Amino acid sequence: MIVASWNDIFGQTEAVSKLKHFVSSGNLNHAYLFIGPQGVGKHTTAKVFASAINCEAKGCGKCSCCVKIINETHPDVFQVVPEGNFITIEQVREIQKEANLKPFEAGFKVYLIDEVEKMTLAAANALLKILEEPPVDVIFILITSNLDGVLPTIISRCCQIYFRSIATEVIIDEIMCRYKIDKDRVELVARVSGGIFGNVVELLNSNRKLKRRESVLYLAEKLKRLDALELVDEGSRLISEVEDFLGELKLKQEAELAEVEEIALSKAHGARLKKRLVEKQKRDRGREEFKAFEDILDFFSSWYRDILIITGCFKNNFLTNIDCEERLRNLSKELSFQGAQRALEIIQETKRILRFNVNKQLALEVMLFKLQEVA
Ligand SMILES: [Zn+2]
Repeated sequence: MIVASWNDIFGQTEAVSKLKHFVSSGNLNHAYLFIGPQGVGKHTTAKVFASAINCEAKGCGKCSCCVKIINETHPDVFQVVPEGNFITIEQVREIQKEANLKPFEAGFKVYLIDEVEKMTLAAANALLKILEEPPVDVIFILITSNLDGVLPTIISRCCQIYFRSIATEVIIDEIMCRYKIDKDRVELVARVSGGIFGNVVELLNSNRKLKRRESVLYLAEKLKRLDALELVDEGSRLISEVEDFLGELKLKQEAELAEVEEIALSKAHGARLKKRLVEKQKRDRGREEFKAFEDILDFFSSWYRDILIITGCFKNNFLTNIDCEERLRNLSKELSFQGAQRALEIIQETKRILRFNVNKQLALEVMLFKLQEVA
């Protein structure tokens, strides 16, 4: 699903009505700060807001301006995300340089700065300087799920917009009604995806992710019976599935890149668009790879958390993998409460390690060997 207009944002009525009011009154601030938990639609809303600011129909979702902004190919709307673990001073200097130039085709240049809490102190101070003397016709949308990490001086310079978390039951109802899918399937998917709306929709639309889950749960179930060689094989199978996916993504991206040349206004414009698109594509691949590994680890976690629930005699309605209850019950005879706890620690540790530039295959294998040891 491509979310493209106000109507596609779910469960954030208050934030949306405030933002719409800014657009309709024409009374725009130089800087906004979107605050709220991860996965509730802040980034999507930021894109829709950026299109509403620039679209003649105030965010129709269909015109070329809206489409370009949503697809992140608009020459005047910039995405800034952490490079590695931080947003650096160089990135902010780049903004400083660009922001003073006139917009290419839009009324306003817009900068979406994601995970603004990850700015280095130098970067944050440089951004503060820009916000103190904002360039004309430029709007900043800062996004964070961790307000404690944002400099108070930056917070006070922005118009703050709060996003709230949405109850899983509300998400289930909405999705059943929107997509006409039966309750059991939506409920399973909602549990597996941690009840985050965007993730639920993604999971319903992606067989790949559900298959990935099946592979992981299957492996978790038989882990103890594998010898060392089989275990390494299984680890490589998970990795090669991720690699296949990234390969397909790259092909799609190459096609996208070819299209850009066609829409360019001039040679220079084409080169500029292309450079930005290549950077975005690289980021997207990095993000998708990271997400794929995070999925794998999350599915492992969900399995051991369920075993923890069963061995600890907690209520069944806390189970995530409700479609595997019998398999989980059988396996929980071989694993203790402490064993499941230890397994969860091992997975957490692997998750932490994967944030750094490590050999992912090796990290995964080490995790599998360690998980095999728990009892
Ligand atoms: Zn439009």
